Amino acid sequence: MTKKILILAGDGIGKEIVAEALKVIDTLKTDFALDVELTHGEIGGAAYDADGHPYPPATQALAKEADAILLGAVGGYQYDDLPRDVRPERGLLGIRADLELFSNLRPAILNEELADASSLKPEIVAGLDIMIVRELTGGIYFGEPRGIRTLENGEKQGYNTLVYKESEIERIAHSAFKIAMQRDKRLCSVGKANVLEVMELWHDVVERVGKEYPEVELSHMYVDNAAMQLVKEPKQFDVMVTGNMFGDILSDAAAMLTGSIGMLPSASLDKNGKGMYEPIHGSAPDIAGKNIANPLATITSVSMMLRYSLDQADLAQKIDDAVESVLKQGLRTADIYVEGQKSTTLVSTSEIGDAVVASLKA
Ligand code: NAD
Repeated sequence: MTKKILILAGDGIGKEIVAEALKVIDTLKTDFALDVELTHGEIGGAAYDADGHPYPPATQALAKEADAILLGAVGGYQYDDLPRDVRPERGLLGIRADLELFSNLRPAILNEELADASSLKPEIVAGLDIMIVRELTGGIYFGEPRGIRTLENGEKQGYNTLVYKESEIERIAHSAFKIAMQRDKRLCSVGKANVLEVMELWHDVVERVGKEYPEVELSHMYVDNAAMQLVKEPKQFDVMVTGNMFGDILSDAAAMLTGSIGMLPSASLDKNGKGMYEPIHGSAPDIAGKNIANPLATITSVSMMLRYSLDQADLAQKIDDAVESVLKQGLRTADIYVEGQKSTTLVSTSEIGDAVVASLKA
């Protein structure tokens, strides 16, 4: 059956990088019989300009209908003074909440060719391929009660609440085990059960869900150790699953192991596998409109979409191989270009997109 993909290019470099991803999708349609129908909508600042809201009803309706969504990026300096509830970033929070996208997938992948871009030694990170699964709609960022109160002695006290219900832990655990099944079948659950009761429950529920996935080797790690291990020996991990705040911190640290923000895709999934796919970076207003942004994170977001929402792992692999091949050819956008490095060529956004398409067709 034809699957529906909603394209939300957004702001800044969003339009340029999504244009390259669209070339890739078109090639998959024409040359590899990918059966998808594309619709286009506005989000973020572009939607505010058109409709006065960063996640307008027209986009909501399209998002509800779609099987998967590809998003560029949102934001721009010109929106910085808008009231908080209509800022471009609110569009992102709005769509995530509206579609109940509770499972955030953040891969940290480092192609061998780019190992020099990392701040760690190449032998520690070359060939790195980790998936961090972060719970996105619960935990301390949403827990009640929260606030700042004044104590009897007049001193102020800030407070937040770290809460997880069994059902919330169960659904993120299922999501992570399913992803582990598609990879190397190793899952590390990251918590802090030695200090936090909520993480004791987390540990027990993940163990319980794990019984349904006997092929997956489950381990547990405290978050402080996980942070150390990510920097010391990151290749020991396959899939990591954790709560909202720990995942926020660990996934950024893992992303930086790779040293190149323009290379990393992400996904946010609901309980049925419907997802929104986007590069981890923002709208990069400093380089927008110059045809120099790196579109590879957006192109590999399409690969994730094929793998996790459209059940097309073979086509996903074709995209990953094409990106690998382009890097092997030495083609580099400015963000991953190292002056003086042998056998590399500085290319534009559209040139590297064309090269991925050529490699797909080869
Ligand atoms: P950013 O990620 O947009 O840019 C950080 C730096 O990385 C900039 O120097 C930029 O030029 C560079 N960069 C980012 N993506 C790149 C790419 N594909 N190729 C080459 N270089 C790239 O973060 P920022 O500057 O802090 O934020 C800019 C705007 O984006 C803000 O309005 C912010 O709120 C928004 N933002 C949106 C998202 C999102 O849409 N998911 C995420 C983060 C920030």
